[in-house]
Amino acid sequence: MKAVVFRANKDIRIEEVRESKIERMDDALVRVTTSTICGSDIHIKNHGETMGILPGTVIGHEFVGIVEETGESVSGFAKGDRVAVSCIFNCGQCFYCKKGNISMCTSGTVFGGKAVTSEIPHGCQTELVRIPYASQIMHKIPNHLSDDDVLFVGDILSTGFFGAERGEIKLGDTVVIIGAGPVGMCAAIGAKLLGAAQIIMLDIEAYRLQIAREQNLADMVVNIKTEDPLQAILDATGGRGADVVIEAVGSSQSFQDAFNYVRAGGTISLLGIYTAETTFAINKHWRKNLIVKMGLVEVKNMGSLINLISSGKIDTHFLITHSFPFAQVMEAYDVMEKRLDNVMKVVLKM
Ligand SMILES: [Zn+2]
Ligand SMILES: [Zn+2]
Repeated sequence: MKAVVFRANKDIRIEEVRESKIERMDDALVRVTTSTICGSDIHIKNHGETMGILPGTVIGHEFVGIVEETGESVSGFAKGDRVAVSCIFNCGQCFYCKKGNISMCTSGTVFGGKAVTSEIPHGCQTELVRIPYASQIMHKIPNHLSDDDVLFVGDILSTGFFGAERGEIKLGDTVVIIGAGPVGMCAAIGAKLLGAAQIIMLDIEAYRLQIAREQNLADMVVNIKTEDPLQAILDATGGRGADVVIEAVGSSQSFQDAFNYVRAGGTISLLGIYTAETTFAINKHWRKNLIVKMGLVEVKNMGSLINLISSGKIDTHFLITHSFPFAQVMEAYDVMEKRLDNVMKVVLKM
């Protein structure tokens, strides 16, 4: 079967790969129907070697599909079920899983991510994916919902909520979100549902800020190319800064900015993928009693997010700006990476 394969930094190709099959009792085999190119796939494409991605890995991790086959111990699923799958698989049994830090699982990882065993499953930018620990990481898609309705629940929507939850947003808070890309938008959806009174979104792309406004996700937007974000935030918060800052960019600049935008006693929640070291002025910030959280999404809310989509409380269709057949996946990478044509998310149809 054809797949997108990582070869080296800045070198991904369409190649013929071995067909996925059930290898353990708790595996399922899922035929991918719709997948995406995630922002983190762009990081993997360009910095995969530094991120521990082995040459030959089939990449991609945001997808939905149809169960093709189930291992003997998989319960609750059968051939033909439409499922959304978590971007990370985890065993449920190791030290970290039992502590609830499921993305730190010693037997798990992101699909198409860093190898943890010699037998890693393919990522989703192909036809068939082996799903380890299938019973706990697959979620049935209700009949009345389409692939596109739930496409993001296993990755960016969970990530956005993870960032909002870890921001410890309280009712009535002001939340600054640095980055109005797909993850930033999902963080705004989360912040809104968690009771933020004022959401301020920052970006360098006018079209993304306009979408945030149109979707009623941001109460205020700041184009940091043309406006002074710090002044705008101080003006909007009585000179104090935001209660919560969610960083959804992953640059050294946005990391430092987060410390300037948050109020004393506030919380910073970092969602960005950092690929370089950075420094920051701890001498300036140490006495502000800040809480700073960072890390990789713990995908725990898929069922709840599907319920919220089902009841119309969440709608992420606006993120889907481009759709490509799988054969044009390289073109799709180009659009995503170069942010052509006001792209938010590209989806791949198998
Ligand atoms: Zn992702
Ligand atoms: Zn585990």
